[in-house]
Amino acid sequence: MESYLYLEKWNLIGRYIAFAIGAIGILMAAYHFLRLMLTVELKKRYDFINRYEIRSLWTSALLIIIAIGFYVNTLVNEGEIIWLLVRVFVTIMVGLIIGVIISNLLKFYYPFYVEKRLRKLRYTPRKSPKTGKPMKLLSEEEEDVYLDEGMQAEENVFSVDYDVWIDEETGHTKIEKYAGHLVALQCPECSYQTLKVVKEEILESPTETEEGELMKFYKCDYCGYKERKAFRVARLKKVEGYNKSSAVL
Ligand SMILES: [Zn+2]
Repeated sequence: MESYLYLEKWNLIGRYIAFAIGAIGILMAAYHFLRLMLTVELKKRYDFINRYEIRSLWTSALLIIIAIGFYVNTLVNEGEIIWLLVRVFVTIMVGLIIGVIISNLLKFYYPFYVEKRLRKLRYTPRKSPKTGKPMKLLSEEEEDVYLDEGMQAEENVFSVDYDVWIDEETGHTKIEKYAGHLVALQCPECSYQTLKVVKEEILESPTETEEGELMKFYKCDYCGYKERKAFRVARLKKVEGYNKSSAVL
């Protein structure tokens, strides 16, 4: 049997490349969870998971798939060019299939798990920095007093959600801002919970005397289904003698 020197060399170098790429992939995921562990504040943890988790896992998975692809191609000593091409082709195809599967898992199933953790982080009672006791989360109606007009308008119009926590003993408040549009609805077309607001347009701004109108554009992440709905926007509330930083009961 003919010996293929270049193949032996490749088998060695390819393995180093595979280990290097694989190591980077694993380190990326490890780095994400390490940073998460070191982030103590609940709201910061929420934002961190929300912003980075799925993206980090995806990059990490991609690198690991590529590493495995390199690695399996260093295991064979059959050096004829036709087999080489077949191997590379099969590797790329299998890699693509696995990539699509993982991408779908991360896009359509993993978010359920993420949402569950996020909900827990969002609604765990905050500790008052004044007394160390758990604070109380105000309801939508109660919280308006603590939000300025701009914040209220944002809540009404821009799918932003403010949570107001209050220390009932001292009146100390903590306001946290959340993106309301992250909540996905069930798609009428494919039934996945992947229908999201992609754009909002104010058709008429609300005033203190009149309601406004808002158009929301939805798009399904899964099947691409699109729809839009018009919403009435509540009249702006008049807040008198209100000072955000010293809001006390
Ligand atoms: Zn759909």
